[in-house]
Amino acid sequence: MNYQTTAEFAQQLDAEDKLSAFRNEFLIPQHNGHDAIYLCGNSLGLQPKAAQQYLTEQLATWQTKAVEGWFDGDKPWLDYHKQVASLVAPIVGANDSEVTIMNSLTVNLHLLLVSFYKPNNKRFKILMESGAFPSDQYAVESQVKFYDLDPKDAILEVKPRAGEYTLRTEDILKAIEENKDELALILFGGINYYTGQVFDMPAITKAAHAAGAYAGFDLAHAAGNVPVQLHDWGVDFACWCSYKYMNSGPGGISGIFVHEKHHQDRSLKRFAGWWGYREDKRFLMQPGFDAAIGAAGWQVSTSPIMLLALHKAALDVFEQAGGITALREKSILLTGYFEFLINNINETHGREIYKIITPTTPEARGCQLSVICNYKAKEIFSFLVSKGVIGDWREPDVIRLSAVPLYNTFNDVHTAYLALNEVIKVIDI
Ligand SMILES: *Cc1c(COP(=O)(O)O)cnc(C)c1O
Repeated sequence: MNYQTTAEFAQQLDAEDKLSAFRNEFLIPQHNGHDAIYLCGNSLGLQPKAAQQYLTEQLATWQTKAVEGWFDGDKPWLDYHKQVASLVAPIVGANDSEVTIMNSLTVNLHLLLVSFYKPNNKRFKILMESGAFPSDQYAVESQVKFYDLDPKDAILEVKPRAGEYTLRTEDILKAIEENKDELALILFGGINYYTGQVFDMPAITKAAHAAGAYAGFDLAHAAGNVPVQLHDWGVDFACWCSYKYMNSGPGGISGIFVHEKHHQDRSLKRFAGWWGYREDKRFLMQPGFDAAIGAAGWQVSTSPIMLLALHKAALDVFEQAGGITALREKSILLTGYFEFLINNINETHGREIYKIITPTTPEARGCQLSVICNYKAKEIFSFLVSKGVIGDWREPDVIRLSAVPLYNTFNDVHTAYLALNEVIKVIDI
């Protein structure tokens, strides 16, 4: 696409956008009486208008049926998580039985590590990307210590080369190869939260398996953002949150994936609870845990129905929009346009005011652009906020900006561009 910098061009792209009506399914935060330019779906997706109604329905069920709500009606609570799981499964490229919806993300990461991190004297190392999201670092560090291992010995990180910001796949594969006799697990983000880089999940999975290790992914920034094919890639396990690109609300419920090939494996350890018991016998309340076959067997506690209702409200919109394939098509265009405009500012000024550290190829990124501000970074961010352009700040000098295809417009991106341009004069950069 030959992008242009004019406002008319943005309007034209919006007019041609087949998904433009879906913005109206969301509540847009306000700034000085106008829609804010919300570019922070990487942190917290917007509220679907339907969310309130979905919640109200469940409150009404609780009111009128109380405990009977678990079994009665067209959406009995007992099966509600399955309806949600079958909406999420196509988003992550999984069979229905490979996905379940439960808990929150870091909790699920721990539960999956209990099953898939099985250190022994020979194999005890976990390979991660350097600069993984802190919660993942803390989870892994504490798991390693749980086995009385020293994180310094057991956790390996692949770092970008000097002067680079993102990882090269060849360096990841080399690290796997070099440690192949001691690797127990590879745990990567699907997309790194800081740089927005999409990792080559199929290649990493293949290399992990060739080395005799499991491959797991935290898809917090990937799920609902870029298409993934967890089943076909043979990924062993994955987990994600739903409140970023899947718009389920602050602290929204998480999802997990466990590949079919592990469903019959009774040797996998797990921390069990009654909700993971095989369903036909769960209510016999017998001693001795007998896991449900599939990801559902990793459930622990009673489904939080209100959180599931919020998740479903957003997923129904997601599906109506044509799912991840349709959204991705617009996303590539939208993010490409944003990248063009930011680079145009640098060209016009003859210096790199904004350095995009996110990869330039569409396959290696999703919605997010991570931008280093080479001058007066904090002031630039404050200016954007004052103009109602909402991105987020990451120390020491990065602004993350994500145009989300479900609710952002090309005009949003153009307005952000105008603000990024204006600030150069206003604060004298
Ligand atoms: C957002 C995010 C989290 C947050 O975890 P919670 O348990 O939901 O607080 C964890 N890991 C990654 C990679 C994230 O991007």
